[in-house]
Amino acid sequence: MTILIKNIGEFFTGDLARPTAPVKSILIADGKIAAIDPPEQKADKILDAAGGAVMPGLVDGHVHPMLGEWTPAQDTIGWIGNYLHGGTTSMISAGELHVPGIDYDNLTPELVTSLAIVTAATTGRVRWSGVKVYAGTALMVAGMTETHFDRLAAAGVKWVKFLFYPFKDDTTEARNYVAWAHARGMRVKVHTGGVSRSGASVVCGYKILSWLQPDIAAHVSGGPIPMSDEDIDSVVDHTSFALEVCSSGNYRSTSRLVARLIARDQLHRLTLGTDTPGGTGVIPRGMLRNVLYFASMCNLTAGQAVAVATGNTARAHGVDVGILEVGRPADVVVCGSITGSAGSTLGEAIAHGDLPGITHVLIDGEFIVSERSRQTPPPTKRAFFCCCDTGGFEASAV
Ligand SMILES: [Zn+2]
Repeated sequence: MTILIKNIGEFFTGDLARPTAPVKSILIADGKIAAIDPPEQKADKILDAAGGAVMPGLVDGHVHPMLGEWTPAQDTIGWIGNYLHGGTTSMISAGELHVPGIDYDNLTPELVTSLAIVTAATTGRVRWSGVKVYAGTALMVAGMTETHFDRLAAAGVKWVKFLFYPFKDDTTEARNYVAWAHARGMRVKVHTGGVSRSGASVVCGYKILSWLQPDIAAHVSGGPIPMSDEDIDSVVDHTSFALEVCSSGNYRSTSRLVARLIARDQLHRLTLGTDTPGGTGVIPRGMLRNVLYFASMCNLTAGQAVAVATGNTARAHGVDVGILEVGRPADVVVCGSITGSAGSTLGEAIAHGDLPGITHVLIDGEFIVSERSRQTPPPTKRAFFCCCDTGGFEASAV
């Protein structure tokens, strides 16, 4: 099956080094981007973007899945499908801590290891509403041995997270965890800022991060409570790992963090997530809202803001999505500015902080959302399927 998306008016690459490009069409074959501006404008299916925009599917770097489409955090079902309609095509678990009845004060190595293995083998095993849900992230607690990491690796666990870990003056154990995780190809994330909704996490700022050296510092500007301004400045200035911003955070701290990253030419470190479901709720348009805040209030260009929410976040977590280039998975959002927006193009709309309207979402070259999103108004320029050149293909067949 080949798909051509033509008449693209704006093309967001997801690559921070070159966030937009004058691309007019893309060819998709076998679920991947096969060509950019192919000379032959032929395919099994042709989508006319009508001058609208194409961007990579959004990558939510911080979600808390638990049991498929049900989240006990807000007792909501269908949440992943709703995020899909907000443009999210991949999401990465920051730990499955919302098991009903779990006792945060008495977590054992056995329990957190088992929980990650079970989630990887259930919620993380299949796609939900077509979305790539990377689930099964182990929550570090004291007393773990290398055997636990062996079991996690054998189960395919790719991420570990320090959240309930009681950081003490003796740093040997925590450093061992980071080394054991890295030796098995896992990435390490750490909760930062004040105490989490569980009430069981410890405060984490620059001091801990400076010796722990994780791969990603989670919600640096708050999730919900940010570290101090001085700590944010020190983390930007004196570390080099990825720095995540989440919907659960503090807007003022976010703007401080981003201004400092821009001033130090460190935007490549910035990643995005919603940190939901959780106390902040279930936010289907959460990733888009983060992008809009970056572009309208934090001096990122629209292309940079999209790249943070896609290529930057995917790269930091080690997943091969988020950038639209030949050979990459065809995870694509077709969208545009909404009638009444201050911007006639998507770039102008995002720069003004106006929500985009989505018509189509593809994951691995498959149309998962067609005609329009159920979570956004329709864009003014609405993409449509062409019947010509397709051997009688009809739009309603999708
Ligand atoms: Zn979280």
